[in-house]
Amino acid sequence: MRSDPLSFLTTELDTLKAQGLYRHLRILSDEQKAKTTVDDRQVVNLSSNNYLGLTTHSRLRERAVDAIRRYGVGSASVRPIAGTLDIHMELERRLAEFKKTEAVVVFQSGFTANAGTVSAILTKDDVVISDELNHASIVDGCRLSRASIKVFPHKDVDAARTILRGLPASQRKLLITDGVFSMDGDLAPLPDLCALAEEFGCIMMVDDAHASGVFGRNGRGTIDHFAAHGRVDIQVGTLSKAFGVLGGYVAGSRALIEFLYHRARPFLFSTSHPPAVAAACIAAIDVLLEEPQIIDRLWDNTRFFKAGLQALGFNTGLSESPITPVIVGDGVLAMTLSDRLFAKGVFAQGIGFPTVAQGKARVRTIVTATHTRADLQFALDVFGEVGRELGIIR
Ligand SMILES: *Cc1c(COP(=O)(O)O)cnc(C)c1O
Repeated sequence: MRSDPLSFLTTELDTLKAQGLYRHLRILSDEQKAKTTVDDRQVVNLSSNNYLGLTTHSRLRERAVDAIRRYGVGSASVRPIAGTLDIHMELERRLAEFKKTEAVVVFQSGFTANAGTVSAILTKDDVVISDELNHASIVDGCRLSRASIKVFPHKDVDAARTILRGLPASQRKLLITDGVFSMDGDLAPLPDLCALAEEFGCIMMVDDAHASGVFGRNGRGTIDHFAAHGRVDIQVGTLSKAFGVLGGYVAGSRALIEFLYHRARPFLFSTSHPPAVAAACIAAIDVLLEEPQIIDRLWDNTRFFKAGLQALGFNTGLSESPITPVIVGDGVLAMTLSDRLFAKGVFAQGIGFPTVAQGKARVRTIVTATHTRADLQFALDVFGEVGRELGIIR
């Protein structure tokens, strides 16, 4: 019999098991909401990116159902062939208006928006200057572009300047950062990075996945939060997190968007969103514009929960957003903390290497607008109890 050419994968998995780092997928059997059912257990959910509770908002649900009735369930083509419905164009127009840019192109996901855009606009002769904690989709886009990649230490504008000083003036440069960093919840030093991009003639690109719907007026993102309109050439946002649906978009000049229509590979070669997705995303914009009080609730809950974790004595890093990490260092300890929390009814995922650096393992919490104070107080009580049991706090 032929020996299994993939047997090395089993060996790798056995290593993870021996290290206590093997993870089962947790399975939800209910809506994605603040209290839900995961692996048949009722839990307070601190693991989703459903910042505003839009995954289950009635306006989004109804618009999605209407779109299914009107158009059916799929688009059955890529955008440049027959997969552009009027509703896709309406979403792009609405997003451009919302973001106050000339134009927007929507991708299947934030991941494909980043990877497809960076790889389309750069060539092997160009250079990317990238924060070390930028999202994997940016890293993959850089690799696909074959441009050279210069990584600067997290948020270190001086280090980025030193890199830029060493590069030929004639070389095309892309300075790129997350707006909110997904594992630490801190913000990019956007005004300083914009100034640097202006000084050295770089293309400035910001990935606002975790800022979309969270920062800025009506959730317009970090560019609006920092009043940096006109200083960022390429803004990426996601429709999969606070927007509650699925997708990614690039906002910028008309020329940028038309170029991406012609050259971005996920746009050219992968089928467009089902109409229900586009319809629900349009409804999400309506909610952000007409019910901004849900964003205020998100921030009230964020302040309450962050202060609670800090009062218990946990190391919550330098978060400035609804993402609050509980940093414990050791990978196995983070997974144990997550498992014990879960057994007591709190769902907060452990995150270790390679998603975060060795020695920086953590449990990541994300509160939403839809958590009640009672949900959050319950979670804090459980965090305190389990944290003391494991010797993480006293
Ligand atoms: C989640 C995330 C993405 C990917 O967005 P999806 O819409 O889930 O594909 C990109 N960048 C950052 C910083 C993210 O956190």
